[in-house]
Parts: sequence; C-alpha cells; structure tokens
Amino acid sequence: MTATRIDGKAFAAQLRDRVGKDAAEFETRAGRKAGLAVVLVGEDPASQVYVGSKGKATVAAGMASFEHKLPADASAEDLLALVDRLNSDPSVDGILVQLPLPGHLDEQSIISAISPDKDVDGFHVINAGRLSVGQSGFVPCTPLGCMMLLTDRLGDLSGLEAVVIGRSNIVGKPMAQLLLDANATVTIAHSRTKDLPGVVKRADIVVAAVGRPEMVKAEWLKPGATVIDVGINRLPPEPGTEKGRLVGDVAFDEASEIAGAITPVPGGVGPMTIAVLLRNTLVAAYRNEGLDVPEDL
Ligand code: NAD
Repeated sequence: MTATRIDGKAFAAQLRDRVGKDAAEFETRAGRKAGLAVVLVGEDPASQVYVGSKGKATVAAGMASFEHKLPADASAEDLLALVDRLNSDPSVDGILVQLPLPGHLDEQSIISAISPDKDVDGFHVINAGRLSVGQSGFVPCTPLGCMMLLTDRLGDLSGLEAVVIGRSNIVGKPMAQLLLDANATVTIAHSRTKDLPGVVKRADIVVAAVGRPEMVKAEWLKPGATVIDVGINRLPPEPGTEKGRLVGDVAFDEASEIAGAITPVPGGVGPMTIAVLLRNTLVAAYRNEGLDVPEDL
C-alpha cells in the first residue's frame, strides 16, 4: 500500500475533545449546558442504535441530551407539536429528527417545521439555501466532516479538480457546494453520468457517496488522488460467519496502490458524522446565546 490512510477515527476523537472543552466553557458562560434533542419515531433497530449512540456522545461531550420517542403510528400533528415545543424550549439548541420516518409521515414537511437555527443536521431548505449563497447556517454533518478531513490533508483546495459521485441532498450536493466554496473545480457525477471512470480519472479529489460496494476501482483513479469514501455497504456474509464485512464505495486495497491518501471503511468518514453533529450543536448553542463561536470548532 502506498496511500496514506486518512484516520477519521483519530480526527473525530480530536474534534470531540475540542467540543468537550468548548462545551464546558459554554456552560460556564451561559449558565446551562448546550442541549441536543433527538426525536425517534417508531422502532427501526438501526435508528434506535443511531439515536442511542448520538445521545451517549452528546452526554460524553458535556452537553445535555433529550431523547423523545414516539410510536410508529404517531400522527404528523403529534410530531409537529413536539417539534414546536422543542423549537421554543430554550434548553434545546439542536433538534434532530431521525430519518427515515415511517411512510405515512412526510419527511420534508417535518424537517421544514424545525427552526433553521436549531437544524443541526442542516437538512432544512433555509440551511441548504444559506450554504448555496455562502451565508452561515448549518451544513449537513457528513459532508462537513469530509471537508474537514480534506482540508486537514490538503490545506488549500484552490484550483484542484474534485469529483463528487452521488447527488443526494444530504451528502453529494452539499459536498459539492463546500468544495466549490473552497475554490475547487467541481464535477458532480451520478447514476446517469457517461464514462464515470473517465470523469473520475481527472480528479485530484474523489468523494464517493453512492452506496455501491467497492464500485470505484484503482484504474479509475489519477495517481496521487485524495479519496474520501462515504459509502457504508455490508457485503453478504461469508460461509460460517453471521455478518458480512463492511466496505465502502471504493475498492480500498487496490485503490490504496494508486491514491495518495484514502479514508478506510470503517474508521474514515463514519466517525466524523457524530463528531460534527456535536460540533454543530455547540455552534448552535453559542449562536442562540449571542456568544462568539470558538474558532477551534
Ligand atoms: P442516496 O441513495 O441518496 O444517493 C446515492 C447517489 O448515488 C445518487 O445521487 C445516485 O445518482 C448515485 N448513484 C447511484 N448509482 C450510481 C452509479 N452506478 N454510478 C454513479 N452514481 C450512482 O445515498 P446517500 O444518502 O447520499 O448515501 C450514499 C452512501 O453514503 C451510502 O452508502 C450511505 O450509507 C453512505 N452514508 C454514509 C454516512 C456516514 O456517516 N459515513 C452518512 C450518510 C450516507
């Protein structure tokens, strides 16, 4: 292997340490803890795990965690009433409604009900708009985490060719926007892109956010490229094992022979997402209290 392994786990641990220190400072100055409310509707096992680990991480960073669980058949009115209460609760700085919601609930209308200044997931159209026009708001956690890893590794991204594979509202589009803001030359590739290997070959920076196991091959990469693998895919179990391996959207072993630096899966982008959620929550808290946001966040 020639590529540097970008250690997202270690980077995320450092970010969480900084958040912890700044959260203590916030508590001293504001006379209360910063608070994150997480809303879970229904009993989806994966969502329960995510909500549990977000709550634990919030408390570990010295912030208050408020978990709200509604039954799977909760009505839109019930959920909107809860969001409304959280919007006006001064001890709540960030509100996160765990997705996916049960099918009878319209995700976009629920997200639109969250106050944009408490929308620490950055999914509200106001925050998407702010990102698009360069105003400060909240940026979705996963792409912001990718951006932190990229600038840590590369410094100034001006003029670099970046290819983002995937155009979802939560990863691909905000990722492309962040890269554009950093003066990269950005291409967004997607399921209808012609000659994807040829497009990727131009890139100094590749961000893969597709959800297809090991799709990006070594021969697609420009030698020395920096590769950020957002994908989390579980392979079918091998005979004699219960669970299949977790892999990204990039064929890690072969790509490591060509890339300059690459994030592993697991241990790359994944750990950044919760760390950035904590960071966004604390930023919301400082803003909500009218205090200057610490520069190390
Ligand atoms: P999505 O399904 O919303 O979007 C996938 C995108 O990939 C689409 O825009 C589609 O156009 C594109 N695509 C599909 N097939 C393609 C192909 N053959 N060639 C090129 N592009 C193709 O997914 P998402 O929510 O953006 O997530 C993408 C991946 O990232 C998933 O594996 C998801 O699990 C993972 N993810 C990880 C984290 C994390 O914390 N690490 C967070 C969010 C998502």
